[in-house]
Amino acid sequence: MSKETQTENIDDLISDFSRFYILTILYEGPAHGYRIINQFKKRVKKEVSPSLVYPFLQQLEERGLVKHTKKAVGEKERKVFTLTEEGRELCTGLFKRFATLVSIAIEPSLHVCAHCGCKVYEGGYREVINGKETAFCCMHCARSFKEIRKPAKQGK
Ligand SMILES: [Zn+2]
Repeated sequence: MSKETQTENIDDLISDFSRFYILTILYEGPAHGYRIINQFKKRVKKEVSPSLVYPFLQQLEERGLVKHTKKAVGEKERKVFTLTEEGRELCTGLFKRFATLVSIAIEPSLHVCAHCGCKVYEGGYREVINGKETAFCCMHCARSFKEIRKPAKQGK
């Protein structure tokens, strides 16, 4: 199976947030189904149905993206799921795509200080320098920015 086909298939598989989030839990480390359900509830503040979790884990395993080992927990034997190398790679790719989507969504209200490079989500300080509006986190950064560029101008 080519890598591309696999990516397309996984898009069908992870067509909702619940599945995406299950992958983020697995990415953090090995987990059994019950732990995934608990972690999900704790962080998303929403129940996830075992009838979604277990078949999804099985599908991932069929695709070679996770493997399981059996581990005794109290009286019971639980399947502990771990992402395979391939599964981790796939997750990294997915998370990057997701991060890009998120940054596009917040971009309009985000700028980076031209001097110190820190991210400024709102407010900040703007000044027109050499005819170009330049964004800073504060006026002190704007001043330093101009100071640094002064000696360069003397060469003209
Ligand atoms: Zn700054």
